[in-house]
Amino acid sequence: MAARAGPPHCLYHKAVRLSKYAAGLIPTSPVGRLSRMHKPEPTLSKAPAPAMNMLRLDSILQCLPGIGPKRAALLARLGLHTLEDLLRHFPRDYEDRRAVTPISQAEEGAVITIEAEVVSARNVRLRGRQSLAVVKLRDASGEMNASFFGRGFLANRAFQPGARGFFNGTVGQYNGLCLKNPDYELAAGEENETRIHGGRIVPKYVLTDGVTQRMLRQWAHMALEGAGDALPGILPPKLEKVHDFPPAAEAIRAIHFPETHEDAARARTRFAFEELLALQLSLLAERAARVNEARGLRHKIDGPKLAAFRASLPFTLTGAQERVIAVMLGDMAAPHPMARLLQGDVGCGKTVVALHLAAAAADGGYQTALMAPTEILAEQHYLQLRELLAPHGIETALLTGAMRGAAAIRRAIAAGDTDVVVGTHALVQESTAFHRLGLAIIDEQHRFGVGQRSCLAGKGADADVLHMTATPIPRTLALTLYGSMDLSVIDAMPPGRKPVKTRRIAPSKVPELYAYLHEEAEKGYQAYIVCKLIEESENWDVTPVVRHFEELSTGALAGLRCELMHGRLDSAEKDAIMRRFKDGDIDVLFSTTVIEVGLDVPNATTMIIEDAAHFGLTQLHQLRGRVGRGSRQSYCFLLGTPTAIEGRKRLDTLCAYASGFDIAEADLELRGPGEFHGVRQAGLSDLRAADLLRDARLLDL
Ligand code: ADP
Ligand code: MG
Repeated sequence: MAARAGPPHCLYHKAVRLSKYAAGLIPTSPVGRLSRMHKPEPTLSKAPAPAMNMLRLDSILQCLPGIGPKRAALLARLGLHTLEDLLRHFPRDYEDRRAVTPISQAEEGAVITIEAEVVSARNVRLRGRQSLAVVKLRDASGEMNASFFGRGFLANRAFQPGARGFFNGTVGQYNGLCLKNPDYELAAGEENETRIHGGRIVPKYVLTDGVTQRMLRQWAHMALEGAGDALPGILPPKLEKVHDFPPAAEAIRAIHFPETHEDAARARTRFAFEELLALQLSLLAERAARVNEARGLRHKIDGPKLAAFRASLPFTLTGAQERVIAVMLGDMAAPHPMARLLQGDVGCGKTVVALHLAAAAADGGYQTALMAPTEILAEQHYLQLRELLAPHGIETALLTGAMRGAAAIRRAIAAGDTDVVVGTHALVQESTAFHRLGLAIIDEQHRFGVGQRSCLAGKGADADVLHMTATPIPRTLALTLYGSMDLSVIDAMPPGRKPVKTRRIAPSKVPELYAYLHEEAEKGYQAYIVCKLIEESENWDVTPVVRHFEELSTGALAGLRCELMHGRLDSAEKDAIMRRFKDGDIDVLFSTTVIEVGLDVPNATTMIIEDAAHFGLTQLHQLRGRVGRGSRQSYCFLLGTPTAIEGRKRLDTLCAYASGFDIAEADLELRGPGEFHGVRQAGLSDLRAADLLRDARLLDL
């Protein structure tokens, strides 16, 4: 299943055929599938068995007994609309109720299952119109009570003397030992009994208010009976055999009502494999559709502007930069639209790479739009590209939401007088129209929503699209998150950069650290001090930046030009401070994590992170990337004494690795993929059986 393929191969063709099928497997919005169906049945317990042969996978849930409009609405909150949705609502866990405890061995506080006969049942009225059913139970070893608080009516209805069943719950006290509010299943011991709630491994589901485990178990069981056999699988029987997976109809039973834990695990693995296969096939199909798309622009890549731009660069490109430039110019010349993700650690030089493409587009008379997440980054890009492109007759412009004169710039863009425009999300506003957009570049792509990204691309017919990110994505995730794009990596730094040295600092050494800041400032170098929070919080025992700034700027760091920045300032204030820092007017900048990714201040050589263990690994790495951009040795100092092993591990990892890729792999391992950048946004949290970390090996099967 290693499916990220350049040239077409077997899977690739299959993908095209299977993609429709596969798309159906990836949970999508089920709204469109709702239809009028059978009449709702009012109650859960008394309703007759539904006519099971009438049920289909796309039957709405109201056709099950016990689900009326109200409960259907509750279930809709879980994303469950049809029987298939319910079947694919896999258990989050199981409870093993196979072991039956003799009543004589019940101990207070224990959670047990007993198999017993009802001796008697009474409805006890409590104060405040509450009621209680007290049921006396007997097995061969003794007797005990079960109590059902608030459900006195059960005494007359469900628990007839002589009825047998399983009762599962916690042992408490009520006239002696008593099972408190047990889950129960009557009719045990009858012929062909169905065990759903007791005497077996029972499923536990993700719930919502008003829906209990018991209800979901019951309904899942009905859905299985009624439509389980119809569940489609995309795995060919041969593949099932090779991996020893049960067929879909069998696996769906085993995942809800397994005989053994091994059965459940095997079934879950099967569905995980299937989900990942479906996902990859649909991504491949998407990619195949794009690559076969003949309408793309054939950009000119041997024009005079590109050549002049290349020749004028003030530095020599790294091998990694040359390599990706060649590949991407190839994309641009090809007759299908480019969709590429360029990854590279902060400072590796992605912008200059992107400018090669912009120059090529300009040679063919096409415009380029470069979108950055903030004004200051847009401005930084603009200054760089104006300097590098303008001498070669390439007209550049900056467009941000805040600037004056935006209307005039928009006019120039629409008229085609501007070749390359850099901007913030102002670029995707409706009022921004292009004359001939041929290339859309999105910097720090994870900061934008999918909608914004495609909106920019949509401003040009068949424009090529380049996404850039400084957050390296581990291979496993990249395959699934961005499988429809081509991936390129810049894996080397420009020469002369020294890796940032990262150290943990014990509290006793902190005074020395401040002395070091004084020395560095004396030599004209700058520092950041980053804190977790702005102000004191009950929930976090960390140093807040406001207090820290006040204490240090008048204490240990008195005499240095200190300033304070945090997320409560508006973006104009933040921009102004960052600009002063960039201009060298600030020695020490106290801040929360709002310091921009990608901000280039070569003069900043020291990064101090307070309470470092409270930050995520990727975030720590990105903060560290703010320094080490010049030729002087830079340092990142991690303060605070982590008490949790996890926190220590993160800090040790950061000290040990310089490369963002190593960090990302470690981060994925420590945190799991759910928290990873872009995972939510890509809808991968919708995977139901598969877990990208646990099931990574399935991708290689
Ligand atoms: P990022 O990949 O983080 O966006 P930038 O494009 O901002 O990195 O580049 C960081 C700095 O490195 C810029 O000042 C840029 O001019 C410089 N740079 C880029 N490539 C090289 C190179 N090959 N040699 C020297 N400096 C370079
Ligand atoms: Mg950048």
